[in-house]
Amino acid sequence: MSQVRWNSMLGEWVIVTPKRAGRPFQEKDRECPFCPGRPETRGPWRVLTLDNRFSALSPDGGPVGLQEGVVVGAPAYGFCKIILLSRDHKQQIETMDDTQLALVFSEYLRVYSELSSQPGIKYVMEFENRGKAIGVSLDHPHAQVYALPFVPPRILKEAEQSKMLWDSEGSCPICQTIEKEVKSEDRIIKQTENFISLVPYAARLPYETHIYPKTHVSSLVELKAHLLELGQVIRDVVQRYAAVFEEVAYVMVFHTRPGVGDNPYWHFHVELYPPWRDRSRLKYLAGIETGAWTYTNDSTPEEKARELRSALS
Ligand SMILES: [Zn+2]
Ligand SMILES: [Zn+2]
Ligand SMILES: [Zn+2]
Repeated sequence: MSQVRWNSMLGEWVIVTPKRAGRPFQEKDRECPFCPGRPETRGPWRVLTLDNRFSALSPDGGPVGLQEGVVVGAPAYGFCKIILLSRDHKQQIETMDDTQLALVFSEYLRVYSELSSQPGIKYVMEFENRGKAIGVSLDHPHAQVYALPFVPPRILKEAEQSKMLWDSEGSCPICQTIEKEVKSEDRIIKQTENFISLVPYAARLPYETHIYPKTHVSSLVELKAHLLELGQVIRDVVQRYAAVFEEVAYVMVFHTRPGVGDNPYWHFHVELYPPWRDRSRLKYLAGIETGAWTYTNDSTPEEKARELRSALS
């Protein structure tokens, strides 16, 4: 029933998915559908990947070629999965031990590998939506995966910028950023052996946080040996959010290479977008952001990085 439709004014695909309007909300449902022992969650598991029952995409009709300018609408082919991050309804990333973290990040890698090799899949986006402040409907710790039949516009834009620098300077924007940021330290939140977390120089949102592997790798596949360390860095960021915000709320996305193969310019990274301007006030996207895609950040990334740095002793 879902469709992808070509928006010819913006040159991008939109997923039209009316059935998702019926998806459950925790407030209305007495029992959490993801706690152990429910119809989909029986048996022993520590992390569990399920088909999203209210999926925006479906593999049923098989892959559909989306020729831009020729095809203007098509069945929404693809996969939507839910990764349950823990059996424990209350165990979010900031309270996980290393064992659970390692399982979670191995599962992110496994699901990414499985879905990116499916026919007709052009991009696999793994992400976590967290907190009432951004309208999350279910509390049980979970992430989502969309395996899309097209490369989404934000990824195309990042790829274009990276490719430009790669072709002209043989370097990528993230490698260049790491070099600069390590020298100044103004916007760094934390560094470990293989990763760095920071508030970007031109952050769109006050508490926007990026996590970069220090080596130029394009996906979780090449980070296999460092998945626990990546998990620890993300846990560290979320612990800082927990200390600074009234409610832990964020969108976290894994920006993996588009497609498979020819993308030497791509540098894998994680981006987190908390909706807060300060401890308890939300940043709303209004006219200039929504209507022009120009962001106004009414704080400095240096000040927010300092606040996050000092949030944990
Ligand atoms: Zn639950
Ligand atoms: Zn790089
Ligand atoms: Zn990105």
